[in-house]
Amino acid sequence: MRRALFLDRDGVINADHGYVHRITDVHFMEGIFELCREAVRLGYVLIIVTNQSGIGRGFYSEQDFQNLTSWMRQRFITEDAPLLAVYHCPYHPQGNVIYRKFAHWRKPAPGMILQAASDHGLDLAQSVLVGDGERDIQAAHAAGVGAAIRFADPAITPSAADVILSSHAEIAAWLRRHNAKA
Ligand SMILES: [Mg+2]
Repeated sequence: MRRALFLDRDGVINADHGYVHRITDVHFMEGIFELCREAVRLGYVLIIVTNQSGIGRGFYSEQDFQNLTSWMRQRFITEDAPLLAVYHCPYHPQGNVIYRKFAHWRKPAPGMILQAASDHGLDLAQSVLVGDGERDIQAAHAAGVGAAIRFADPAITPSAADVILSSHAEIAAWLRRHNAKA
């Protein structure tokens, strides 16, 4: 069975400017590609799990999201860190009619992670998630992901995460140590 590095998108892969849906608004976080290459080298597959309530709220369309995602996947290929899959949840309880429901996919629910595990035969206990929000951590724990890393300042951010780290370089170093132990 394969193991995954699950990545939240906004705030982890790209800076979270709020409802990012245009390519020109994507600013990749410092160290994200180095982190992803390291994860691939250590044997993880890369999977994005992202809440996209902006679709349900009508701020942008499913097609806008797919266009940006295609472009982003291409960039990850160029960076030698191809993404295995991208899961997104367009639903939101205050969204437009067809999207107005509490989907079990929306983090903090574990639906996207569980679907990914089923689609790709993943060993969740051996997998790792990186998120910048507590909802990401809750989703990881609910799904049984082995380690949940909160990307935040540990001095000011209380979190149920297994570890709180404030740079992508530190996350890459943690992954290396984690695998040296295993
Ligand atoms: Mg985020």
